[in-house]
Amino acid sequence: MPRPYKPRRVSAMPRYTYFKPTGIPMPLLDEVVLTVDEMEAIRLKDLEKLEQQECADRMDVAQSTLQRILVSAREKIALSLIEGKAIRVHGGPFALEGELICPRCRRRRVKQENLSNEKHGLNINECPECAGKDEK
Ligand SMILES: [Zn+2]
Repeated sequence: MPRPYKPRRVSAMPRYTYFKPTGIPMPLLDEVVLTVDEMEAIRLKDLEKLEQQECADRMDVAQSTLQRILVSAREKIALSLIEGKAIRVHGGPFALEGELICPRCRRRRVKQENLSNEKHGLNINECPECAGKDEK
C-alpha cells in the first residue's frame, strides 16, 4: 500500500490567483507561491472568522496542521506586502468537494455517486488510470 495521501479539503478554487505590486518591472519581481489550501485556511479563519477547530474540521486536517498552514500562509502574505513580492496562488495538497485524488498517481477525478461513502480522497481502488498497476 502506498502511504496514505490525505488532501486538504477546499470548498472552491480561488477566483483570483495572481497579485503583484505596481511599479516593479517583471524581471525584478520576486514571487511567492501561496498554495490553494493555504488560501482556503486564510479565507476560513481570517475572512469567515471561524474558530480554528472548525476551520480544521472543514479542511479535514488536525488543528495543529491548520495552525501550520496559517503560519505559512501569513508569512507569505507578509513577505509580499512588506518586501513587494508577487503572490501566485497555485497547487498544494488539496481536493475540492466531491473530488477524489488517487494517492498513488495523484490524478484528480470527480467522485461517483456510488462512492459517496468512501472516505474523502482515500479511495484508490477505482482509479481508472492506475488501477491494477503496481498492486502489492
Ligand atoms: Zn491512480
